[in-house]
Amino acid sequence: MADRFDLYRAESEEIEPPVILLEDVSKDYVEGQHALKNVSLEIRKGEFVFIVGSSGSGKSTLIKLLLKEISPTRGHIMVAGKELSRLRENSICKLRRSIGIVFQDFRLLKDRTVFDNVAFAQRVLEVPNHKIRRDVPRVLSIVGLSEKLRSYPDELSGGEQQRVALARALVNNPVILLADEPTGNLDPRNSWEIMHLLEEINRRGTTVVVVTHNREIVDAMQKRVITLNKGVIIGDQKGGYSHAKN
Ligand code: ADP
Ligand code: MG
Repeated sequence: MADRFDLYRAESEEIEPPVILLEDVSKDYVEGQHALKNVSLEIRKGEFVFIVGSSGSGKSTLIKLLLKEISPTRGHIMVAGKELSRLRENSICKLRRSIGIVFQDFRLLKDRTVFDNVAFAQRVLEVPNHKIRRDVPRVLSIVGLSEKLRSYPDELSGGEQQRVALARALVNNPVILLADEPTGNLDPRNSWEIMHLLEEINRRGTTVVVVTHNREIVDAMQKRVITLNKGVIIGDQKGGYSHAKN
C-alpha cells in the first residue's frame, strides 16, 4: 500500500508529489474507535476541495492531522512534499508556516487592531517590520478591509472578522489554505463573500481545502467534494452536495 509514498520518496526531485497525500490513514482517539478509517486521498497543487459530512464524521480530525496537531494511529501523510511522521520540531514549525488556517469562530485577538491581528502572524515568524508594513495592507486590500486597519474586532461584523482571519491566514503566502467551517457563524450573504474570497485566493495559486455544512454553496460552486461518513470517505467527485450520500 505504500507504493505511492515510495515513488515520491525515491523520485521526489523529478516528480512533484501532490500537495496533500494520505495513504491508508486511520485515527483512533480511543482504542478501537475510528475517528478516521483507512482514508486515502490525494489533493494536487492548485485544487479547490470541499470536505463535507455530518457532525462527528472526522472532518476536523483530518484538518488536525494535516497540521500535525495530532498524529495518525496508522498510515502515512505527506503535506507540501514532507512526510509528517519524519518531521522534527523545527520542521513542524516550517510546515505550519506553509499552511494558512481559518476557523468557524475567527479566533482574533480582541485587544488588538485589525492591523496587529494580521501582523501577529508575521511577528511570530520574526518577519522584519518593513515587510510587515508592506504585507499587511496588501492582504487587507485583497479581503476588502483596507479602511478598517485601526478597528478592533468588536467593532466589526462577523463577516468582516472572518475576512481579517482570512487575511491573517494569507499574509505569509501559504501553499495551502485550510478552512474548518469558515461560514458556520455567518449569514448567507457573508458566507458567499467568504467563499468568493476563497475562490479568488485559489485562483491566485493557493490550494484551498474547505470543510463546510453549507449545502447551497457546495452545490452552486461545483468543485471537488469529498464526503466523509463515520470516518470513511464515501464520495469523492466534482459537483455538488446532492451527489453525496449524506
Ligand atoms: P467533525 O469535525 O466531522 O464533526 P471530528 O473530527 O471532530 O468530526 O470528530 C470525529 C470523531 O472523533 C467523533 O466521534 C468525535 O467524538 C471524536 N473525537 C474528536 N476529537 C476527539 C478527542 N480529542 N478525543 C476523543 N474523541 C474525539
Ligand atoms: Mg469539526
